[in-house]
Amino acid sequence: MTVTIFDKIISKEIPSDIIYEDDQYLAFSDINPQAPVHILIIPKKRIPTINDLESSDGKTIGEMILIAKNIAKNKQIDKDGYRLVFNCNAHGGQSVFHIHLHLLGGRQLNWPPG
Ligand code: 5GP
Repeated sequence: MTVTIFDKIISKEIPSDIIYEDDQYLAFSDINPQAPVHILIIPKKRIPTINDLESSDGKTIGEMILIAKNIAKNKQIDKDGYRLVFNCNAHGGQSVFHIHLHLLGGRQLNWPPG
């Protein structure tokens, strides 16, 4: 499995604006925000794409969503609403091959995304 920039963010080799961290997960602000709130939630365990998930990873995905929900509440965007996105491979627009959940909010988001 190839090392990505997110491994360097996890190890603090590359600085990031950390929003949440525990022994298994990290959440940090996206460097190129697409909304007033744009935070990435990642597992510290390296899983390249959603296609690589195994049934034992279900808890990981669930916990990532719970972290996103808690951050949305802390950022006070929960009532207005927000979007959670996993991009997968080329057509999904994935550019970093370490799964990450995008939390986007703070403005009206367009649908369909295009
Ligand atoms: P993807 O396109 O793979 O779904 O999302 C990758 C995200 O990672 C992009 O939104 C991009 O802006 C963000 N990103 C890429 N490199 C860095 C970085 O070095 N630091 C931070 N904070 N975000 C990054």
